[in-house]
Amino acid sequence: MTIVLKVDPRQPDLEKIRQAAASLLEGNLVAFPTETVYGLGANALNRKAVERVFYAKGRPFQDPLIVHIASLQMLYEVVNNVPNEALSLIDQFWPGPLTLILPRHPSIPAEVSAGLNTVAVRMPSHPIALALIEHAGVPIAAPSANRFGHTSPTSAAHVLADLDGKIDLLIDGGEPIVGVESTVLDLTQQAPVILRPGGVTHEELMKVLDSVLLHGDESSIDQKDPMPSPGMLSRHYAPQATLILIESENSTNACMRIIAEATLLLESGKRVAILSADEDALIFEQLGVRIEIIGSSQNLAQIANRLYSAIRLLDEEKIDFILARSYGSKGMGLAILDRLRRAASKIINIE
Ligand code: AMP
Ligand code: MG
Repeated sequence: MTIVLKVDPRQPDLEKIRQAAASLLEGNLVAFPTETVYGLGANALNRKAVERVFYAKGRPFQDPLIVHIASLQMLYEVVNNVPNEALSLIDQFWPGPLTLILPRHPSIPAEVSAGLNTVAVRMPSHPIALALIEHAGVPIAAPSANRFGHTSPTSAAHVLADLDGKIDLLIDGGEPIVGVESTVLDLTQQAPVILRPGGVTHEELMKVLDSVLLHGDESSIDQKDPMPSPGMLSRHYAPQATLILIESENSTNACMRIIAEATLLLESGKRVAILSADEDALIFEQLGVRIEIIGSSQNLAQIANRLYSAIRLLDEEKIDFILARSYGSKGMGLAILDRLRRAASKIINIE
Protein backbone atom coordinates (compact mmCIF):
# COMPACT_ATOMS: atom_id res chain seq x y z
CA MET A 1 0.00 0.00 0.00
CA THR A 2 1.21 3.46 -0.86
CA ILE A 3 0.28 6.11 1.72
CA VAL A 4 -0.93 9.31 0.06
CA LEU A 5 -0.58 12.61 1.92
CA LYS A 6 -2.27 15.65 0.43
CA VAL A 7 -0.22 18.80 1.07
CA ASP A 8 -1.01 22.37 0.02
CA PRO A 9 2.10 23.69 -1.81
CA ARG A 10 1.32 27.27 -0.73
CA GLN A 11 1.36 26.30 2.93
CA PRO A 12 2.96 22.87 3.44
CA ASP A 13 1.60 21.08 6.52
CA LEU A 14 4.81 20.46 8.47
CA GLU A 15 3.39 17.49 10.33
CA LYS A 16 2.94 15.64 7.04
CA ILE A 17 6.33 16.80 5.76
CA ARG A 18 7.92 15.41 8.96
CA GLN A 19 6.14 12.08 8.44
CA ALA A 20 7.44 11.86 4.87
CA ALA A 21 10.97 12.90 5.94
CA ALA A 22 10.99 10.25 8.68
CA SER A 23 9.93 7.66 6.13
CA LEU A 24 12.85 8.65 3.88
CA LEU A 25 15.26 8.31 6.79
CA GLU A 26 13.95 4.78 7.43
CA GLY A 27 15.09 3.88 3.92
CA ASN A 28 11.66 4.12 2.30
CA LEU A 29 10.70 5.50 -1.10
CA VAL A 30 8.75 8.76 -1.11
CA ALA A 31 7.35 10.40 -4.24
CA PHE A 32 7.01 14.18 -4.07
CA PRO A 33 6.19 17.13 -6.32
CA THR A 34 8.92 19.34 -7.74
CA GLU A 35 8.49 22.32 -10.06
CA THR A 36 9.51 20.12 -13.01
CA VAL A 37 7.81 16.71 -12.57
CA TYR A 38 7.08 14.38 -9.63
CA GLY A 39 10.23 12.76 -8.23
CA LEU A 40 10.70 9.37 -6.60
CA GLY A 41 12.95 10.05 -3.64
CA ALA A 42 15.33 7.97 -1.55
CA ASN A 43 17.97 8.99 0.99
CA ALA A 44 20.98 9.50 -1.31
CA LEU A 45 23.37 8.36 1.46
CA ASN A 46 21.59 5.01 1.87
CA ARG A 47 22.74 2.52 -0.76
CA LYS A 48 19.88 0.07 -0.13
CA ALA A 49 17.24 2.78 -0.42
CA VAL A 50 18.82 3.99 -3.66
CA GLU A 51 18.76 0.47 -5.08
CA ARG A 52 15.05 0.23 -4.29
CA VAL A 53 14.41 3.24 -6.56
CA PHE A 54 15.79 1.31 -9.53
CA TYR A 55 13.70 -1.78 -8.72
CA ALA A 56 10.48 0.20 -8.18
CA LYS A 57 10.86 1.98 -11.53
CA GLY A 58 12.31 -0.92 -13.47
CA ARG A 59 15.16 1.45 -14.25
CA PRO A 60 18.48 0.01 -15.45
CA PHE A 61 21.31 0.52 -12.94
CA GLN A 62 23.36 2.22 -15.70
CA ASP A 63 21.00 5.23 -15.66
CA PRO A 64 22.20 7.67 -12.97
CA LEU A 65 19.90 9.58 -10.59
CA ILE A 66 19.76 13.29 -9.78
CA VAL A 67 20.53 14.23 -6.18
CA HIS A 68 18.25 16.94 -4.77
CA ILE A 69 19.46 19.36 -2.11
CA ALA A 70 17.89 22.17 -0.10
CA SER A 71 20.92 24.30 0.82
CA LEU A 72 24.37 25.24 -0.43
CA GLN A 73 25.84 23.54 2.61
CA MET A 74 24.37 20.26 1.37
CA LEU A 75 26.05 20.79 -2.00
CA TYR A 76 29.45 20.31 -0.36
CA GLU A 77 28.29 16.95 1.05
CA VAL A 78 27.37 15.78 -2.46
CA VAL A 79 30.17 17.09 -4.67
CA ASN A 80 33.93 17.22 -4.30
CA ASN A 81 34.64 20.48 -5.99
CA VAL A 82 32.51 23.48 -6.93
CA PRO A 83 34.10 25.41 -9.82
CA ASN A 84 33.45 29.14 -10.21
CA GLU A 85 31.21 28.66 -13.22
CA ALA A 86 28.98 26.43 -11.07
CA LEU A 87 28.74 29.17 -8.46
CA SER A 88 27.66 31.71 -11.10
CA LEU A 89 25.00 29.33 -12.40
CA ILE A 90 23.79 28.48 -8.91
CA ASP A 91 23.52 32.18 -8.12
CA GLN A 92 21.35 32.70 -11.18
CA PHE A 93 19.26 29.53 -11.47
CA TRP A 94 18.95 27.81 -8.07
CA PRO A 95 16.57 26.92 -6.70
CA GLY A 96 15.19 25.90 -10.10
CA PRO A 97 15.17 23.46 -13.03
CA LEU A 98 18.93 23.26 -13.64
CA THR A 99 20.90 20.09 -12.82
CA LEU A 100 24.70 20.33 -12.68
CA ILE A 101 27.07 17.41 -13.22
CA LEU A 102 30.06 17.78 -10.88
CA PRO A 103 32.69 15.50 -9.31
CA ARG A 104 31.03 13.06 -6.87
CA HIS A 105 31.80 13.24 -3.13
CA PRO A 106 32.80 9.87 -1.61
CA SER A 107 29.82 10.01 0.78
CA ILE A 108 27.46 9.53 -2.20
CA PRO A 109 27.29 5.82 -3.05
CA ALA A 110 28.44 4.94 -6.57
CA GLU A 111 25.00 3.36 -7.24
CA VAL A 112 23.47 6.87 -7.34
CA SER A 113 25.69 7.76 -10.29
CA ALA A 114 25.73 4.41 -12.07
CA GLY A 115 29.36 4.00 -11.03
CA LEU A 116 30.52 7.30 -12.54
CA ASN A 117 32.81 9.52 -10.51
CA THR A 118 30.49 12.43 -11.23
CA VAL A 119 27.12 13.25 -9.69
CA ALA A 120 24.07 15.15 -10.93
CA VAL A 121 22.76 17.66 -8.40
CA ARG A 122 20.07 20.29 -8.25
CA MET A 123 18.14 22.45 -5.79
CA PRO A 124 14.43 22.36 -6.67
CA SER A 125 12.30 25.46 -6.11
CA HIS A 126 9.09 23.67 -5.17
CA PRO A 127 8.20 24.51 -1.53
CA ILE A 128 7.19 20.91 -0.74
CA ALA A 129 10.39 19.47 -2.22
CA LEU A 130 12.53 21.97 -0.33
CA ALA A 131 10.70 21.41 2.97
CA LEU A 132 10.98 17.64 2.59
CA ILE A 133 14.73 17.71 1.93
CA GLU A 134 15.32 20.20 4.76
CA HIS A 135 13.40 18.06 7.24
CA ALA A 136 15.12 14.87 6.14
CA GLY A 137 18.44 16.68 6.54
CA VAL A 138 20.04 14.48 3.87
CA PRO A 139 20.36 14.82 0.09
CA ILE A 140 17.58 12.99 -1.75
CA ALA A 141 18.27 10.97 -4.90
CA ALA A 142 15.21 11.22 -7.11
CA PRO A 143 14.48 10.31 -10.72
CA SER A 144 11.06 11.03 -12.20
CA ALA A 145 8.34 9.00 -10.43
CA ASN A 146 7.24 6.86 -13.36
CA ARG A 147 7.91 3.35 -14.63
CA PHE A 148 11.15 3.42 -16.62
CA GLY A 149 10.69 4.66 -20.17
CA HIS A 150 7.19 5.89 -19.52
CA THR A 151 5.93 9.49 -19.72
CA SER A 152 7.03 11.57 -16.70
CA PRO A 153 4.30 12.27 -14.11
CA THR A 154 2.90 15.76 -13.67
CA SER A 155 0.25 14.79 -11.11
CA ALA A 156 -0.14 12.50 -8.10
CA ALA A 157 -2.62 10.44 -10.12
CA HIS A 158 0.07 9.83 -12.76
CA VAL A 159 2.46 8.58 -10.05
CA LEU A 160 -0.14 6.18 -8.66
CA ALA A 161 -1.02 4.92 -12.13
CA ASP A 162 2.61 3.79 -12.52
CA LEU A 163 3.86 3.00 -9.01
CA ASP A 164 0.95 2.36 -6.62
CA GLY A 165 1.97 -0.34 -4.15
CA LYS A 166 5.63 -0.19 -5.26
CA ILE A 167 6.49 2.91 -3.21
CA ASP A 168 5.86 3.70 0.45
CA LEU A 169 4.52 7.21 0.39
CA LEU A 170 3.35 9.86 -2.07
CA ILE A 171 2.93 13.55 -1.33
CA ASP A 172 0.12 14.90 -3.48
CA GLY A 173 1.01 18.55 -3.91
CA GLY A 174 -0.84 19.50 -7.08
CA GLU A 175 0.66 20.16 -10.49
CA PRO A 176 4.18 21.33 -11.32
CA ILE A 177 4.84 24.80 -12.75
CA VAL A 178 7.43 23.81 -15.37
CA GLY A 179 6.06 20.37 -16.28
CA VAL A 180 9.18 19.24 -18.14
CA GLU A 181 12.39 17.87 -16.57
CA SER A 182 15.38 19.97 -15.53
CA THR A 183 18.15 20.94 -17.92
CA VAL A 184 21.16 18.70 -17.27
CA LEU A 185 24.45 20.59 -17.71
CA ASP A 186 27.78 18.75 -17.50
CA LEU A 187 30.49 20.92 -15.92
CA THR A 188 33.12 18.19 -15.80
CA GLN A 189 34.03 18.46 -19.51
CA GLN A 190 36.39 20.99 -21.10
CA ALA A 191 33.42 23.18 -21.95
CA PRO A 192 29.95 22.99 -20.37
CA VAL A 193 27.64 20.64 -22.30
CA ILE A 194 23.85 20.38 -22.13
CA LEU A 195 23.15 16.65 -21.83
CA ARG A 196 19.40 17.14 -21.66
CA PRO A 197 17.53 20.32 -22.62
CA GLY A 198 14.90 21.30 -20.05
CA GLY A 199 13.42 23.99 -17.85
CA VAL A 200 16.38 26.40 -18.19
CA THR A 201 17.08 27.23 -21.84
CA HIS A 202 20.36 27.19 -23.76
CA GLU A 203 19.94 30.93 -24.36
CA GLU A 204 19.57 31.59 -20.62
CA LEU A 205 22.72 29.58 -19.84
CA MET A 206 24.66 31.46 -22.53
CA LYS A 207 23.99 34.70 -20.67
CA VAL A 208 26.02 33.37 -17.73
CA LEU A 209 28.67 31.23 -19.45
CA ASP A 210 30.76 32.10 -22.51
CA SER A 211 30.18 28.81 -24.21
CA VAL A 212 27.57 26.09 -23.73
CA LEU A 213 27.56 23.12 -26.11
CA LEU A 214 24.63 20.89 -26.99
CA HIS A 215 25.26 17.19 -26.60
CA GLY A 216 25.48 15.11 -29.77
CA ASP A 217 24.29 15.86 -33.27
CA GLU A 218 20.85 14.44 -32.61
CA SER A 219 19.99 17.50 -30.58
CA SER A 220 21.99 19.98 -32.61
CA ILE A 221 19.72 22.76 -33.71
CA ASP A 222 21.67 23.54 -36.87
CA GLN A 223 21.47 20.06 -38.25
CA LYS A 224 20.23 20.15 -41.81
CA ASP A 225 20.95 16.51 -42.66
CA PRO A 226 18.11 14.01 -42.41
CA MET A 227 17.47 12.69 -38.92
CA PRO A 228 19.03 9.35 -38.10
CA SER A 229 16.43 6.61 -38.35
CA PRO A 230 14.05 6.80 -35.41
CA GLY A 231 15.31 3.40 -34.27
CA MET A 232 18.61 5.08 -33.41
CA LEU A 233 16.99 7.54 -31.09
CA SER A 234 16.50 6.45 -27.56
CA ARG A 235 12.78 5.98 -27.07
CA HIS A 236 11.93 7.38 -23.71
CA TYR A 237 9.06 9.34 -22.23
CA ALA A 238 7.01 7.04 -24.41
CA PRO A 239 3.23 6.79 -24.61
CA GLN A 240 1.33 3.57 -25.28
CA ALA A 241 -0.05 5.16 -28.43
CA THR A 242 2.15 5.48 -31.50
CA LEU A 243 3.32 9.07 -31.64
CA ILE A 244 4.20 10.53 -35.03
CA LEU A 245 6.23 13.73 -34.94
CA ILE A 246 6.27 16.10 -37.89
CA GLU A 247 9.41 18.23 -37.72
CA SER A 248 9.43 21.41 -39.74
CA GLU A 249 10.51 25.01 -39.45
CA ASN A 250 7.27 25.91 -41.17
CA SER A 251 4.18 25.42 -39.01
CA THR A 252 1.72 25.58 -41.93
CA ASN A 253 3.56 22.82 -43.77
CA ALA A 254 3.66 20.75 -40.61
CA CYS A 255 -0.08 21.14 -40.05
CA MET A 256 -0.83 20.18 -43.66
CA ARG A 257 1.24 17.02 -43.23
CA ILE A 258 -0.58 16.23 -39.99
CA ILE A 259 -3.89 16.49 -41.87
CA ALA A 260 -2.58 14.13 -44.57
CA GLU A 261 -1.33 11.58 -42.01
CA ALA A 262 -4.53 11.79 -39.99
CA THR A 263 -6.65 11.23 -43.08
CA LEU A 264 -4.73 8.07 -43.97
CA LEU A 265 -4.97 6.69 -40.42
CA LEU A 266 -8.69 7.47 -40.18
CA GLU A 267 -9.31 5.60 -43.44
CA SER A 268 -7.77 2.52 -41.89
CA GLY A 269 -10.08 2.82 -38.89
CA LYS A 270 -7.54 4.01 -36.31
CA ARG A 271 -8.32 6.20 -33.31
CA VAL A 272 -6.37 9.37 -33.99
CA ALA A 273 -5.58 12.40 -31.84
CA ILE A 274 -3.66 15.58 -32.58
CA LEU A 275 -1.58 17.44 -30.01
CA SER A 276 -2.42 20.91 -31.22
CA ALA A 277 -1.44 24.49 -30.50
CA ASP A 278 -4.34 26.88 -29.92
CA GLU A 279 -3.63 28.62 -33.20
CA ASP A 280 -3.62 25.40 -35.24
CA ALA A 281 -6.79 23.82 -33.86
CA LEU A 282 -9.20 25.43 -36.31
CA ILE A 283 -7.69 23.82 -39.41
CA PHE A 284 -7.85 20.37 -37.80
CA GLU A 285 -11.54 20.63 -36.94
CA GLN A 286 -12.74 19.44 -40.37
CA LEU A 287 -11.05 16.08 -39.72
CA GLY A 288 -13.34 15.08 -36.88
CA VAL A 289 -10.45 13.67 -34.82
CA ARG A 290 -9.71 14.10 -31.14
CA ILE A 291 -7.89 17.42 -30.73
CA GLU A 292 -5.97 18.02 -27.52
CA ILE A 293 -4.90 21.65 -27.21
CA ILE A 294 -1.60 22.04 -25.39
CA GLY A 295 -1.29 25.84 -25.39
CA SER A 296 -0.26 28.71 -27.57
CA SER A 297 2.74 28.50 -29.88
CA GLN A 298 3.49 32.02 -28.62
CA ASN A 299 3.97 30.53 -25.15
CA LEU A 300 6.24 27.51 -25.42
CA ALA A 301 6.58 27.21 -21.64
CA GLN A 302 2.85 26.47 -21.55
CA ILE A 303 3.19 23.81 -24.26
CA ALA A 304 6.12 22.18 -22.43
CA ASN A 305 4.09 22.20 -19.23
CA ARG A 306 1.04 20.50 -20.74
CA LEU A 307 2.84 18.02 -22.98
CA TYR A 308 3.11 15.06 -20.60
CA SER A 309 -0.36 15.35 -19.10
CA ALA A 310 -1.86 15.59 -22.60
CA ILE A 311 -0.03 12.44 -23.70
CA ARG A 312 -1.14 10.57 -20.57
CA LEU A 313 -4.73 11.69 -21.11
CA LEU A 314 -4.76 10.40 -24.69
CA ASP A 315 -3.31 7.09 -23.51
CA GLU A 316 -6.14 6.77 -21.00
CA GLU A 317 -8.57 7.31 -23.88
CA LYS A 318 -6.92 4.39 -25.73
CA ILE A 319 -5.95 6.49 -28.73
CA ASP A 320 -3.96 4.48 -31.34
CA PHE A 321 -2.01 7.32 -32.98
CA ILE A 322 -0.95 10.73 -31.69
CA LEU A 323 0.18 13.31 -34.25
CA ALA A 324 2.27 16.28 -33.17
CA ARG A 325 4.44 18.95 -34.73
CA SER A 326 7.66 20.57 -33.53
CA TYR A 327 7.86 24.14 -32.21
CA GLY A 328 11.31 25.12 -33.43
CA SER A 329 14.48 24.67 -31.42
CA LYS A 330 14.85 28.02 -29.72
CA GLY A 331 14.18 28.57 -26.03
CA MET A 332 11.80 25.97 -24.60
CA GLY A 333 11.22 24.72 -28.16
CA LEU A 334 14.38 22.63 -27.77
CA ALA A 335 13.14 20.80 -24.65
CA ILE A 336 9.77 20.20 -26.34
CA LEU A 337 11.55 18.85 -29.43
CA ASP A 338 13.78 16.56 -27.34
CA ARG A 339 10.80 15.05 -25.45
CA LEU A 340 8.67 14.66 -28.59
CA ARG A 341 11.55 12.93 -30.39
CA ARG A 342 11.99 10.50 -27.52
CA ALA A 343 8.26 9.84 -27.33
CA ALA A 344 7.94 9.35 -31.08
CA SER A 345 7.82 6.02 -32.90
CA LYS A 346 8.17 7.82 -36.19
CA ILE A 347 9.70 11.18 -37.12
CA ILE A 348 8.90 12.85 -40.42
CA ASN A 349 11.17 15.73 -41.45
CA ILE A 350 9.77 18.19 -43.99
CA GLU A 351 10.67 21.65 -45.30
P1 AMP B 1 15.54 11.49 -14.47
O1 AMP B 1 15.80 11.97 -13.08
O2 AMP B 1 14.84 10.19 -14.54
O3 AMP B 1 14.79 12.53 -15.24
O4 AMP B 1 16.94 11.26 -15.17
C1 AMP B 1 18.14 11.83 -14.74
C2 AMP B 1 19.05 12.01 -15.90
O5 AMP B 1 20.13 12.84 -15.49
C3 AMP B 1 19.74 10.76 -16.38
O6 AMP B 1 18.99 10.01 -17.27
C4 AMP B 1 20.99 11.31 -17.05
O7 AMP B 1 20.69 11.75 -18.34
C5 AMP B 1 21.31 12.52 -16.21
N1 AMP B 1 22.40 12.24 -15.25
C6 AMP B 1 22.27 11.96 -13.94
N2 AMP B 1 23.48 11.78 -13.38
C7 AMP B 1 24.40 11.94 -14.33
C8 AMP B 1 25.83 11.90 -14.37
N3 AMP B 1 26.57 11.67 -13.28
N4 AMP B 1 26.42 12.10 -15.56
C9 AMP B 1 25.70 12.35 -16.66
N5 AMP B 1 24.34 12.42 -16.70
C10 AMP B 1 23.70 12.23 -15.55
MG1 MG C 1 12.82 10.15 -16.01
